[in-house]
Amino acid sequence: MNYDRILIRYGELTTKGRNRNKFVEKLKMNIKRELRDFPNAKIEASRDRMYVLLNGENSEEIISRLKGVFGIQSFSPAVKVEKDIEVMKEAVLDLFKSLYKPGKTFKVTGKRADKTFPLNTDEINNTFGAHLLKNIDGLKVDVKNPDINMQIEVRKEAAYLTCENFRGAGGLPIGSSGKAMLMLSGGIDSPVAGYLSMKRGLEVEAVHFHSPPFTSERSKQKVIDLAEKLSEVSGFMTLYVVPFTEIQQLIQKKVPDNYTMTVTRRLMLRITDELRKKYNGLAIITGESLGQVASQTLESMYTINEVTNTPVLRPLIAMDKTEIIGISREIGTHDISIRPYEDCCTVFVPSSPKTNPRRDKVNHFESYIDFEPLIEKAVNQTEVIHIKPQAKKAEESFDELF
Ligand code: ATP
Ligand code: MG
Repeated sequence: MNYDRILIRYGELTTKGRNRNKFVEKLKMNIKRELRDFPNAKIEASRDRMYVLLNGENSEEIISRLKGVFGIQSFSPAVKVEKDIEVMKEAVLDLFKSLYKPGKTFKVTGKRADKTFPLNTDEINNTFGAHLLKNIDGLKVDVKNPDINMQIEVRKEAAYLTCENFRGAGGLPIGSSGKAMLMLSGGIDSPVAGYLSMKRGLEVEAVHFHSPPFTSERSKQKVIDLAEKLSEVSGFMTLYVVPFTEIQQLIQKKVPDNYTMTVTRRLMLRITDELRKKYNGLAIITGESLGQVASQTLESMYTINEVTNTPVLRPLIAMDKTEIIGISREIGTHDISIRPYEDCCTVFVPSSPKTNPRRDKVNHFESYIDFEPLIEKAVNQTEVIHIKPQAKKAEESFDELF
């Protein structure tokens, strides 16, 4: 017996009330993109669940792809059968035999959503359990901890048989929560912050500050590679590379050494905010974690954050470095992040950055410099790079989605 579909359960989505249609649409689009290498697979979506109709495509490969899609609570390969008890008996036995090995235990879990079906839940369990016991020698029931849980769900249109449940990635479908700009350095933290934001349904675009010739082509390539890794999760990624040399040099020249880091961060935030406006985002994401370095004390954040009232999301704020490293390993960004190339902040890092910079002082220092035209120029000269995942093929069908 071959599975003919994968049943997808939304979990958290079902609590989203009126927004549900949008969530379902996004999830459907994201699954479609994830499965673009399987042209025969079709998606059937309804308010409370989704089916991927396999139409002969390989269920195991599709299962492994679905594991990474945000917004899926759990999923199961399934068989649709006519609601005729004899037909169902045969299908149950077929499916069971394809999974059964001598010594394995089982139970039947019936569910009757269609109350017109002649058997109630207990009767479903008994009828089909007895049918399996009669047809398979030595088979034993174990209701507490069965090796095979034969789930039979009777719905209005048909009955569905499933035996295996896979845990989904959870979260919300990418794009269902709006768009935000991720400040992406070459470090370990910001790619993790981007990943976690996508998991909560954000569409993420990345902004990177680059200061040639102080930062090399290789350090830029590192960030492109990180963005490419993140694009494997979302299907695509836009990276904005901001030329930052002129502003950094001016800061070095005009601002007292112990305040250069604070002013630099404020300028990065202002430019990111301009890009956010230009490209219609609603928030900024950083990889900051409280107290990790001088720029990430609460005093620093208070002073740096003064330049914008756009929400600044910091998904890592309460995480320890070891936890962040753990996630970076899981998502495959770690080994790229630890490549040794310098980034613009490390090149210009002062010997003793202030850990408690004050708003009045920083405003005073900045008042001597006219940053406006430089910010405008940096935004205008920003390089826009559209990145797609390399690991997966069939770019053509992917393009059709846009
Ligand atoms: P990361 O590992 O993400 O680099 P970090 O612990 O090294 O973080 P900082 O270097 O202080 O911390 O950077 C804090 C945050 O500022 C980063 O997580 C990132 O969001 C942003 N950031 C730093 N440098 C850049 C840059 N060159 N371009 C874009 N964003 C940056
Ligand atoms: Mg860094």
